[in-house]
Amino acid sequence: MAVAGGWIGGVGHASSLANDPDTDALGDPGPAGLSYASPRVSRAMTIPPAAPAAESPAERVSTPVDGVDVLGAISPSRAGDFMACPLMYRFRTIDRLPEQPSPDAARGTLVHKVLEDLFDLPALDRTPERAGDMLEPTWQALLAAEPELEEMFGESGPDVTAWLASCRTVLDRYFDLEDPRRLEPADRELYVEALLDSKLLLRGFVDRVDVAPDGRIRIVDYKSGKSPGEGYEAKALFQMKFYALVIWRLRGVVPSVLQLVYLGNGEILRYEPDEDDLRATERKVEAVWAAITRAQETGDWQPSPSRLCDWCSFHEFCPTKGGTIPPLPERTTPAVDASVDESSD
Ligand code: SF4
Repeated sequence: MAVAGGWIGGVGHASSLANDPDTDALGDPGPAGLSYASPRVSRAMTIPPAAPAAESPAERVSTPVDGVDVLGAISPSRAGDFMACPLMYRFRTIDRLPEQPSPDAARGTLVHKVLEDLFDLPALDRTPERAGDMLEPTWQALLAAEPELEEMFGESGPDVTAWLASCRTVLDRYFDLEDPRRLEPADRELYVEALLDSKLLLRGFVDRVDVAPDGRIRIVDYKSGKSPGEGYEAKALFQMKFYALVIWRLRGVVPSVLQLVYLGNGEILRYEPDEDDLRATERKVEAVWAAITRAQETGDWQPSPSRLCDWCSFHEFCPTKGGTIPPLPERTTPAVDASVDESSD
């Protein structure tokens, strides 16, 4: 299906710029449904927040998991954790072990937040210069909310000035890919949840939702890292299909385009899902949940060593790294807690 037409945002808030024909050309996703786009001016963008947990929309509005009406809840990040390494999932979600702040993750959070706030500005003010000016104060606000981020720097970590410069580089790259002056996203950092027939709750935060005048929906996600190589897109697209499934369940409309904006190397990955795609995603999520439940019942959370281990904070507890697995915490209700992940990557 070829995609054309304007992607405007904020139902009822579309600006004249958003209706500019130039703005409407969505690139060409191509008939295969999957496409990459290198630097080109497209449209919209979104951002994840660094709000304290107590202010999280998930805290305020998410459906409680009571083990009866809702058997469990899962986000795409946590599903991805389990698929990558069940033991890591356990440490992160069941044990809730603390993790060291990472400069890469913090860069993602900071850049996402700047982009979010950028869209609060009048359209014509959304320039690279204004975005760059917002980096330092936004970083200070993040630090105030999460003082432990300071631990990333110092003797063994990067120099904070150099790190901020790297954030600026990533942020600047955004403007090679999209022109925020021509966009009015319908939603940014949108909390979504949908209950499947199995009573499994799917939930998470969507970076940005664009809505065209004819009602077509585009889901956009920002990645501060590089795009996956050819043939390795499935993992990245799983998250997007997960969100598309939730939106489909919520609004009765299959999103037309899933768009991943890779700020690490300036590429855009687009995919056009259909109902079969999303049904397959639903089956996959159900299968992941069944495997998580089995692990919970048996206590068997297998490690799965991979390149991901290089970024794992749990080496001291992982037998594949010479560590010792701690005892499981006392079981609480519901049977399995899958927290909503709000991190930015
Ligand atoms: S170190 Fe590797 S195998 Fe061990 S928990 Fe972390 S990701 Fe899993």
